[in-house]
Amino acid sequence: MPNSWDVIVIGAGVAGGLAAFDCARRGLRVLLVEKRSFPRWKVCGCCFNANAMAALTAAGLPNLFSDQGAVPLDQLRLGWGGRTLNLALPGGWALSRERFDQALVNAAQAAGATVRFQTGAVLEEMSALGRMVRLRPAGGASAERIQARVVLVAAGLQHQVLATSHPASADSTPGSRIGAGCLISDEDGLFESGAIHMAIGRSGYVGLVRREDGALNLAAAFDRTAVQSSGGVTHAAELVLRQAGFPLPHSLETSRWQLTSALTRRADVFSGDRFLLLGDSTGYVEPFTGEGMAWALAAGAAVAPFVQEAQGEWTTDLEHRWQRRLETLTIRRQRLCGLLSTLLRHPLAIHALFRAGSQWPAIPQRIISSLNQVSPLLASH
Ligand SMILES: Cc1cc2nc3c(=O)[nH]c(=O)nc-3n(C[C@H](O)[C@H](O)[C@H](O)COP(=O)(O)OP(=O)(O)OC[C@H]3O[C@@H](n4cnc5c(N)ncnc54)[C@H](O)[C@@H]3O)c2cc1C
Repeated sequence: MPNSWDVIVIGAGVAGGLAAFDCARRGLRVLLVEKRSFPRWKVCGCCFNANAMAALTAAGLPNLFSDQGAVPLDQLRLGWGGRTLNLALPGGWALSRERFDQALVNAAQAAGATVRFQTGAVLEEMSALGRMVRLRPAGGASAERIQARVVLVAAGLQHQVLATSHPASADSTPGSRIGAGCLISDEDGLFESGAIHMAIGRSGYVGLVRREDGALNLAAAFDRTAVQSSGGVTHAAELVLRQAGFPLPHSLETSRWQLTSALTRRADVFSGDRFLLLGDSTGYVEPFTGEGMAWALAAGAAVAPFVQEAQGEWTTDLEHRWQRRLETLTIRRQRLCGLLSTLLRHPLAIHALFRAGSQWPAIPQRIISSLNQVSPLLASH
């Protein structure tokens, strides 16, 4: 493998996969490094909104969802205290992360990118060419040091990529919920296809969606203490579903859960000498109706021109412009989503939302539409 690259992308999730594809199709020499092996399941609601579609279209992959057999989504079904609120969610898709992330990697490879799985990467010091990166292959093979003119850090919510160069680069917000997820079969057909079923309880929420293979994907956010006090994550999920008035799928009892770290994080580093951050690595707020991947994809679709420019001189102006771009594409929307997630922790606010929803459906509909609105920066493609 060559020792030097135009760009090394760390993390083959949605942000890194799309960035690697876009950089490769522009003729850059790209190495995409991923610590896990693919395809892999991960905690995620698997719901994509219209903004995600706009980002894929902007990057030249407008048919990815239909090619992968994704399930069209057009409804958000909120449940709370035995009441249900149905809201329109036009232009959405449900697709497993196994298929979606693999499809992006395949597209990047077809465009000329080199991909290394089961290899963790850590940013190291500056070099004559750009930045050094240490690769640590799984299974005890010896570490390698390589370099690139630009490194893209797309390593997700809680990564250690900057551990040696910028030790305190992201902090979780006090009181932040933790994420949890599992895959369940729904033989009873309790949850219909084409809708996000979102149960809101006192200590968190549980989202269910039917995937392209017919399985139900469950993704949830819980207060950390609720998981302990209810005797584990299965019971915490059952409690939320019951509180919302949703039925309990039989196979929930036997499902295998994965947990995440604290969901709401603020990054204090967005870039540095010859590296840029994108996706969840730049900070994250609790998900609501499928915004996280759209933000990550929007950043993945926007970064290649910055990488091309940085093949020459690196300037702090370029870093500032990247930060401003992130601000427009993601950070402002995250604030709105964060505000909504905070409000939905208060029973009075949920009560008001459901009341308004039954009398004036346009109000909650407007909130959901503004969260899912296509960014003007992507809409022109
Ligand atoms: C409970 C829950 C439900 C959610 N539901 C939705 C939803 O329905 N819709 C939606 O849009 N978003 C949802 N999200 C958010 C969404 O999952 C994230 O926003 C999205 O995955 C971010 O993409 P990313 O590319 O930044 O990071 P990731 O997708 O996390 O990818 C990062 C990749 O980097 C790899 N990596 C990490 N460290 C290293 C390293 N040192 N070296 C090499 N590789 C590394 C990881 O293995 C991973 O594959 C949800 C999140 C949670 C927790």
